[in-house]
Amino acid sequence: NAAAELPPKLMLNLEVLQNLGEDKAAPLLRYVAAIQSQRGDYNGRVLSIRQDDLRTLSVIFDLQPSVLVDLLIEWGVLDPDARRAVNFDTD
Ligand code: C2E
Ligand code: C2E
Ligand code: C2E
Repeated sequence: NAAAELPPKLMLNLEVLQNLGEDKAAPLLRYVAAIQSQRGDYNGRVLSIRQDDLRTLSVIFDLQPSVLVDLLIEWGVLDPDARRAVNFDTD
């Protein structure tokens, strides 16, 4: 069925993100803070971001989207299932 083929949401674990060493995660922390501010969404434990935002972040980090997703999974910021979001979307 079609729903099973939808890409998973890119849901960032904010708790893990806040506790990462600041230098490596600083651009992502600023980006997330900007989205939270635009939405007025400050109290969540997670934050869903747009597919487009992953593309923007991949430019900021100078990494391919799939490589950035692997890094965020390694940090524990994204669920391993998020890998499907880029496989679905890239190329
Ligand atoms: P906008 O893009 O014009 O969206 C206006 C409103 O439409 C949003 O208000 C939200 O209520 C709804 N909306 C738009 N796209 C989605 C979506 O994919 N899912 C859901 N659930 N709702 C959606 P909101 O949340 O107060 O955001 C205000 C503005 O802040 C947005 O205006 C946009 O310019 C910016 N923004 C918010 N979140 C994001 C984000 O995750 N990424 C980016 N790039 N911009 C965001
Ligand atoms: P879901 O998308 O799987 O999200 C599960 C829960 O994660 C949400 O429960 C919420 O507590 C948290 N969460 C996910 N993304 C964000 C985020 O960007 N900010 C914050 N503060 N929390 C987030 P909740 O709110 O009870 O929603 C349950 C389900 O209802 C969601 O599951 C989703 O399927 C649907 N839903 C809720 N809000 C929206 C929405 O704006 N757009 C759409 N399309 N579905 C929504
Ligand atoms: P979601 O709300 O379940 O939306 C899933 C997808 O439906 C979005 O994927 C987008 O492609 C489309 N969509 C939903 N609402 C709108 C809309 O108002 N305008 C447009 N042009 N498309 C819409 P996307 O963009 O990858 O976003 C993934 C998730 O990130 C959204 O899931 C939502 O949880 C969150 N999100 C994205 N943008 C916003 C926003 O502006 N405000 C809020 N509150 N949440 C957002």
